[in-house]
Amino acid sequence: MSRDPSTVLLHVMPPPSPGDPAGSTLIMSSYLVSSGTAEASDYLRGDHPNWRVVERGLGALEEADAVLFASGQAASHALLADLARTHRRIVVPGDGYYNTRALAHLVGVASGVEVRAVDLLDAAAVDGAVAVADAALWVETPTNPLLRVADLARLGDICRRRGARMVADNTVATAVLQQPGRFGATATVYSLTKAAGGHSDLVLGAVVTRDGALADRLREWRTLTGGIPGAFEAWLAARSLATLPLRLAAQSASALEIARHLEHRDVVAAVHHPGLAPHRTVADRQMTGYGPLLSFEVAGGAAAADAVVAAAELIRSGTSFGGVVSSWERRARWPGESAPPGLIRLSVGVEGVADLIADIDGALTAAAG
Ligand SMILES: *Cc1c(COP(=O)(O)O)cnc(C)c1O
Repeated sequence: MSRDPSTVLLHVMPPPSPGDPAGSTLIMSSYLVSSGTAEASDYLRGDHPNWRVVERGLGALEEADAVLFASGQAASHALLADLARTHRRIVVPGDGYYNTRALAHLVGVASGVEVRAVDLLDAAAVDGAVAVADAALWVETPTNPLLRVADLARLGDICRRRGARMVADNTVATAVLQQPGRFGATATVYSLTKAAGGHSDLVLGAVVTRDGALADRLREWRTLTGGIPGAFEAWLAARSLATLPLRLAAQSASALEIARHLEHRDVVAAVHHPGLAPHRTVADRQMTGYGPLLSFEVAGGAAAADAVVAAAELIRSGTSFGGVVSSWERRARWPGESAPPGLIRLSVGVEGVADLIADIDGALTAAAG
């Protein structure tokens, strides 16, 4: 029987011996004292003991190898650049994280690889897009900020039949709630800045893969390009991972309760959440929880949504998501974002859910009045 993710994360490191510190050590050093022979790993741009702790935790969750990067974008860049070496077309989601599409186009222009955006919920469009030699499909589900759920089993099937490689940005769900590797993805990308870090105090990313040769190439890329993670960020992330399953269980339960509550408010025109129709059936096949995010459209459009965000007392106005403190923002304020003008994305934290619902109701009423 496989162990609970909490147990896995809490026991990835060898147990300390009597006399050792029970807490984990932060190592601030640029090199290891040499034994005389030349060891590449002695210079800490290429490897770092604090990175290794995070990599072991992330890897253990998916029984795979993990490579830590300075940000989610740095992780995406490393993987996209690797895909561009051996693929002629990279297919990206039409409504996923905006910066992934922007970065894919940048990599495409630099490498001569064709980049095409498709709706991942349109199976025929995906099938057509990957029906060329050497295609790769970049999946993101649930998508950010519309929380649309793409069917991983179906996408995996399409890629298998067409001989295309599938990779997934699993930032929103994390490996605790969803494992795209089980559906044929050969690598998963994470922004640990979001739920995995969970305390809004670090920027970090990772690629997780069972493809040992790919992991080696990603490490080489990280060493050569040199924009490496900081030791302190890695130390913070390692400590945060220990409570990730606990936090996600609380956040997922509260987000679902809030989504259901908002469905009954008449100032709310639409609610988007993986646990609501039309996405729930697919979500239940591939996720063990729905995650901390939901979004909803305020009937009065942009001005009304701005007023709602400004009226909250507990929920912070701000971008990013996945932190222990709830936050929200009107997404369409960002240039390039395709979300409807009155759409608010809410990231649910670990506050008491009744307090959050009271805060949201108060903000909706204040904005309407
Ligand atoms: C935030 C985010 C990223 C980028 O991660 P950074 O850590 O901000 O560089 C990538 N994908 C998704 C889905 C994200 O939400």
